[in-house]
Amino acid sequence: MTDEMLQQWVERVSLQFFGRPFIHKATFNGRLKATGGRYFTKSHNIEISPHQLAAFGEEETEKIIKHELCHYHLHLMRRGYRHRDADFKLLLKQVGGSRYCRTLPEREERRRLPYKYKLVCRNCGMEYLRKRKVDPAKYVCGKCRGKLLIKSLDIPDRP
Ligand SMILES: [Zn+2]
Ligand SMILES: [Zn+2]
Repeated sequence: MTDEMLQQWVERVSLQFFGRPFIHKATFNGRLKATGGRYFTKSHNIEISPHQLAAFGEEETEKIIKHELCHYHLHLMRRGYRHRDADFKLLLKQVGGSRYCRTLPEREERRRLPYKYKLVCRNCGMEYLRKRKVDPAKYVCGKCRGKLLIKSLDIPDRP
């Protein structure tokens, strides 16, 4: 799918679900990996991740487009356009947009990794779980600022 096709798609969704035209630019951005889309408050342009389309298909991508259009129209109408705003939440529900600028699978995968290490405070004994090995010298205890040491949790990858 080309940027031009995306532009037409966004314009169509805008008229159909919001009853207002989308008069700015919508483009694909291959560097968008963490989120499905982005809305720029300065330029009013929208970017959509092509990975989103590849991973979830057109139906899910249209929900992302609706999500970004909620930011867009509310911002232009000078209403609450941020995720936490009641205006945003209500409009998103009305048009059936995706709840979040959806996370792509690679990111979810990373989050599901088990904890393999813990940092233990030498001073107060507070423990901090870590998924990857880190250098304990680079951190201090969040509670007492004490020095930390790292311990393996010894969880085998497969039982
Ligand atoms: Zn958003
Ligand atoms: Zn401590």
